[in-house]
Amino acid sequence: MRLVEFTAPGRRGAGAIVPGGVLDLARAVPGAPESVVGVLAAEGAVRHAIRRATEDVDPTHVLPWPGVRLLAPVPRPGAIWCIGYNYRGHTTQDDPAFPDVFTKPAAAVVGPQDAIILPVAAAEVDYEAELAVVIGRRAHRVAESEALDHVGGYTVLNDVSARDWQRHGSQWGLAKSFPTFAPLGPAVVTPDEIPDLADLTVEARVDGETTLRGSTRDLVFPVAWIVAYLSRAVVLEPGDVIATGTPQKLPHVLDRGPRWLRPGDVVEITISHVGTLRSTVVAPE
Ligand code: ZN
Repeated sequence: MRLVEFTAPGRRGAGAIVPGGVLDLARAVPGAPESVVGVLAAEGAVRHAIRRATEDVDPTHVLPWPGVRLLAPVPRPGAIWCIGYNYRGHTTQDDPAFPDVFTKPAAAVVGPQDAIILPVAAAEVDYEAELAVVIGRRAHRVAESEALDHVGGYTVLNDVSARDWQRHGSQWGLAKSFPTFAPLGPAVVTPDEIPDLADLTVEARVDGETTLRGSTRDLVFPVAWIVAYLSRAVVLEPGDVIATGTPQKLPHVLDRGPRWLRPGDVVEITISHVGTLRSTVVAPE
């Protein structure tokens, strides 16, 4: 299933992407949760009915494009955990024993049809293309072998970062916390839609030019390891998001030097089987 949150005239709720539009789950399945996190956490008969409704679609419950607007599939995560430097580059450096972990605030989250607003106070705004894990079942002290049972699905997160603010000190969280610096979506894709979690292509394009490409086979810390590791420290709750880090930009892009985001840019991040998150960059208000 490709689960979304949406607004349509007179309606706000949880849905699933189906041919032609968005299946309004509360209409298709009486008693269905009104949020993606609720759907991910649903079990038993409700979960079964939701799945059946998305496989055998009743067209009268489909809100057609373009009359439906997508919100972030998890508009206010309880926590957003981020992993730094998690893709192997082309150096021979040894893998670290533990990842760099930081957080982004939930207030930075925007949806797949929202803009990235350049801050007045930052000059060097950049993007990062990340596979995001959405927790579906509470996880505390889970083993790596059981960690994926706690994952509700996967989506795309753009870890927008003000590089000039990143240089202010040793902690880089604030540089990644400006409003709109966490575009998320468009859908939370359930694990059954992902044939191989270790073989996903992660790509970014700016104004149509591919600037970054990597594969999850190069993750230093794979998803199950990260979930298990974080759960040794914290209680991961349904709806918590884990951004797994970005691949490096392509060599020719690095060679020509930084090119910070400008008003009018369109940043697209595509992860195979997961989807494309497209954000337009706008000037400060
Ligand atoms: Zn990042």
